[in-house]
Amino acid sequence: MLVVAKFGGSSVANATQFKKVKDIVLSNDSNNARNAVVISALGKKEKGDSKITDLLYLLHAHLKYNVPYTNIYDMIKERFGKVKSELNLTLDLDKEFNDLEKLLTKDIKEDFLVSRGEYITSKLMAEYLGYGFVDAADVIKFNYDGTVNYELTYELIEKAYLENGKIIVPGFYGAYPNGSIKTFSRGGSDITGAIVSAALKATYYENWTDVSGILMTDPRIIKEAKAIKEITYAELRELSYMGASVLHEHTVFPVQKANIPIKILNTNSPLDPGTIIREDCTDKEQIITGIAGKKLFTSFTITKKQEVNKLSVIQSALNVFAKFNITVEHIPSSIDSFSVVVPSSDVANNLYDVVTVLKANPDIQDVHIDDDISLIAVVGRNMVDKPGMSGRIFGTIGSNNINIKMIDQGSSELNIIVGISEDDYIKTLNAIYHEFVG
Ligand code: ASP
Repeated sequence: MLVVAKFGGSSVANATQFKKVKDIVLSNDSNNARNAVVISALGKKEKGDSKITDLLYLLHAHLKYNVPYTNIYDMIKERFGKVKSELNLTLDLDKEFNDLEKLLTKDIKEDFLVSRGEYITSKLMAEYLGYGFVDAADVIKFNYDGTVNYELTYELIEKAYLENGKIIVPGFYGAYPNGSIKTFSRGGSDITGAIVSAALKATYYENWTDVSGILMTDPRIIKEAKAIKEITYAELRELSYMGASVLHEHTVFPVQKANIPIKILNTNSPLDPGTIIREDCTDKEQIITGIAGKKLFTSFTITKKQEVNKLSVIQSALNVFAKFNITVEHIPSSIDSFSVVVPSSDVANNLYDVVTVLKANPDIQDVHIDDDISLIAVVGRNMVDKPGMSGRIFGTIGSNNINIKMIDQGSSELNIIVGISEDDYIKTLNAIYHEFVG
């Protein structure tokens, strides 16, 4: 058994958090199998904390525009110095920072500078855990087009693991073939964790964070929202697309391909069961897995002339949306009309132009705009092949006196999406949650 454990910024924000990480990594609950650890940069734990990565981006901007930067730089040094002294570590931080200082010029590369957060945090953690430090620049390899060279990367990680035994790899960055540092997008340590898991064919990829798993719905709206026990990759994708922010969106691919389950766990409450993401979920009890919602959509309801062919009108309307670079989210339809639902932000500056071009089509009789659409998606693999599910959802919404403006069910039956007015958003989420979860 081999487990890859990735700890996010809040899990390594200070010396107290470092201790929690050590307890988890060295505990026996996974038969001492947490042999590869991926670490983010010191993040936020207490009110007033800054994320080291944010400070590094800020430092870069100061350098670039020739603005005095000593304050920010000292804050960064201080955060690391505090962790080192509180844990009695011996890492030569002065040398690390002296080396870095020599490079602090207007031309320093942003990716390199911001990667130092993960780099130094991981060096401290490697000493604290007694694990071998493996620089991500030596094992996570990018092609010049910015994609990961998986074959080479997997080979290098495996080799580093065989050479070092237990290893720590900093998250968030890797290197181009010429050695220059490249980072993933923000939150990208999740991706590093997934890549290391796939490379080492881990039994599990543990993603340690500050919540006890993925919640069934937005806890800002439903405080008592329960954690999801099990979720498939496909369900996760649906929920993430609808706004549930869980993992970096590119995390899943390497582990899904290698069929490695992901566990989302809480560093501050390590005994909580958390959520497991895997292909073959067995839990049949919970009919719905999650409810997610997104606000601010606009619907163009296009009515065609009765005698003309609907397909060609849809086609030409979609061409208009493509021309204006507008994302089309849903196209519910009836005999002579169809609606095109798009994010309102995509039409904020060109709504009337779009309508004018649509109306110029002689086959189109009318275009009606509704700019008050919120979407709510009910997602659940256990809804598939279950008669009456949509009836129950619509019945619940109806009995709460909420008007449904649009309905869309993918043929995979994995999700049912309803469009409602923004005023009904909170009410709808509550109604569905309490009907299905209690
Ligand atoms: N430290 C990086 C960030 O804040 C990467 C990560 O935490 O995953 O975006």
